[in-house]
Amino acid sequence: MYTAHIRKEIAALDPYTPGLSIDEIREKYHLSNIIKMASNENPLGTSPLAQKAIEDSASLAFRYPRSGNPRLLERLASLYHIEPNRLIIGNGSDEVIDLLIRMLVEAEEENIVSFSPCFSLYTIQAKIAGAAIRQCPLKSDFSFNFDGLFTCVDEKTRLVFLTTPDNPSGYCPSREEVLGFAQKLSRFSRCLLVIDEAYMEFHPNETEASLLYTTLPDNVAIIRTFSKCYGLAGLRIGYGIVPVPIADAFWRTRLPFSVNILAEEAALAALDDQLFSKISIQTVSQGRNFLQSELQKLGCTVYKSFANFLLFSLPEPYRAKEYFEYLLEHGIIIRLLGSYNLPSHLRVSIGNPEENRLFLNNTQAFLQRGV
Ligand SMILES: *Cc1c(COP(=O)(O)O)cnc(C)c1O
Repeated sequence: MYTAHIRKEIAALDPYTPGLSIDEIREKYHLSNIIKMASNENPLGTSPLAQKAIEDSASLAFRYPRSGNPRLLERLASLYHIEPNRLIIGNGSDEVIDLLIRMLVEAEEENIVSFSPCFSLYTIQAKIAGAAIRQCPLKSDFSFNFDGLFTCVDEKTRLVFLTTPDNPSGYCPSREEVLGFAQKLSRFSRCLLVIDEAYMEFHPNETEASLLYTTLPDNVAIIRTFSKCYGLAGLRIGYGIVPVPIADAFWRTRLPFSVNILAEEAALAALDDQLFSKISIQTVSQGRNFLQSELQKLGCTVYKSFANFLLFSLPEPYRAKEYFEYLLEHGIIIRLLGSYNLPSHLRVSIGNPEENRLFLNNTQAFLQRGV
């Protein structure tokens, strides 16, 4: 008789906890209108130019994509003035993260380092790869303790992950701080600093905060995504700028067609749709200011955010879980942060003005109900 033997790392694995989906909540609560402010998606939807590109390419769906995504590669290289041989493209930045770990970290011997809490995919994919994980707690205001992070690094550390702006707090350190940390790390010659800039487009001073607009130190990689500001989360496409030998290994390791034709065409069009990305960034910035001050007026503790979401906690004695359920019953999905080990905090993605209003009205109603 066949007995399935699952590798011990997989058998013990807690999977990624995604935000709840609209369909799930519609069925459970029999609601017709649901708004989702849980997964940091673009509040304006998909860029019209990207939609057109998807329609125009629909007839090509029977073809395999060109391997190596050369058109997008050239486009990103000229946009950011980098050599194409340092670029990698994946099925979401999730695939980039996964492959960096699998390519660079020797199972059972070597480790990755990150803050805690952090984007859970770093630790989940590390566990799958059999890598050890070392984490340094964030400071109590969710800012970065770089000295503490450095003490977690040793000769066996192959990757250090930083998220700037950070998820779930929205905190962003200065570029100088990150460069200073990279400099310190450089004494570990086999350790790569990975800066996950999934939300950097929403930073009010992107060109001063991002490492993309500096000469990258040779021990630093940057990853970015089309899922957030570019509104293509459902198509799964992200990219990275990495040292040349890593890019070379990546293209040999990646499944040959993991980025599909429609995703690549949509990404190219989304880069062209500057009006859409500009309005998306404005919408997020205005909505972020508005929600920040209104939540504060309601007595919530709100953390300063440079991303398209806010981390907050309710005034005493209200409970995050009850509030979350209350919002669900009223058709609003936000994010509980138990999976980030933050049971009293919540994360809300910035919505469009109407969604922001509804979210606030319902928050106010919950708080006025009393405990
Ligand atoms: C959303 C997010 C990503 C993007 O993931 P994709 O696979 O590109 O959709 C990457 N890193 C962080 C920290 C994120 O929050």
